[in-house]
Amino acid sequence: MIRFLKNTLLLMGFLLLMAISGLAQVNVDNYSRFFALTSYQNKDHLILRKFIRSGVLSYLLVNPQELTTEIVPATNLSPKVLTWNQAIAYFKNTAYVKAIDAASLLSGNLQDAGIIHGFPKEKGITLTIDLCPSHKPLDRVIFTSLITEFQKTEKPVPLAISITGRWMLTHRSDLDWLKGLVKSGDIDVTWVDHSYNHRVSFSAPLKTNFLLEPATDLNFEILGTELAMIQQGFLPSVFFRFPGLVSDRQIVSQLLSYGIIPIGSDAWLAKGQAANSGSIVLIHGNGNEPVGVKDFIQLLKNKQVDVKNKNWLLYDLSESVGDEFSQ
Ligand SMILES: [Zn+2]
Repeated sequence: MIRFLKNTLLLMGFLLLMAISGLAQVNVDNYSRFFALTSYQNKDHLILRKFIRSGVLSYLLVNPQELTTEIVPATNLSPKVLTWNQAIAYFKNTAYVKAIDAASLLSGNLQDAGIIHGFPKEKGITLTIDLCPSHKPLDRVIFTSLITEFQKTEKPVPLAISITGRWMLTHRSDLDWLKGLVKSGDIDVTWVDHSYNHRVSFSAPLKTNFLLEPATDLNFEILGTELAMIQQGFLPSVFFRFPGLVSDRQIVSQLLSYGIIPIGSDAWLAKGQAANSGSIVLIHGNGNEPVGVKDFIQLLKNKQVDVKNKNWLLYDLSESVGDEFSQ
């Protein structure tokens, strides 16, 4: 009897815990690709996704000049449905479509296709931190070091996190920690879709590896991750980072037809590539690339005086890519 009571209490406790953690997630249904033109805040915007968030029909839309996104309830918007081709024709003179055109032209390489460099307004870089699936905890030192170095010059610190669905599934306390840093105004995150599963084979050649693996469900890899972001309260951006930075012309073209832009890197620190003015720097924050993290901390140390004098800044990814293509 005592054992029965004990088990019942345990089960009740478990269910309560599930209910509490369930409450932390936003309910998202019917998430789908949907293109439409709408006026929002007196400017033309392109709707990219349609879904029901917490019972409310909502849209994810992009400001095609700024490359910023927003989730807006459908009430008060009067969208005009477009095909993808109509959308890019309508917005052809915007930074958004120019970036898409550039990514399309750069899609021939098996590695590092897409936008790899931003516009260097002053000295500085754009930082992207990849969170591929991992059993290890988040490398929190990246964030604490950034906050310490930039607290007097850039608060919040702008950075991009390329996140996978699988990482989100297994890193609840790290997710809460990141949410805390956003809430306290220490960091400002551009959330980049890095696919849901991020499958990798250690023997397959690049042309059938990562997302090029046969039978990959690209629709789920893209939309499943965005949906998981919104469930966590994160805002999906228009950017995507290919797992392993591996892609081919066909998959880039498929990806672009979802209205999102592949972001490569011209400074993958762990591979010995140097960060120059305007670089899109890549490091891994998932505990699997200590060399890259060490290099980055060293880079921060080297730039300490420049950071203090505002001669070395971090740039927001949307702003950096937006400026590159608004010329
Ligand atoms: Zn990755």
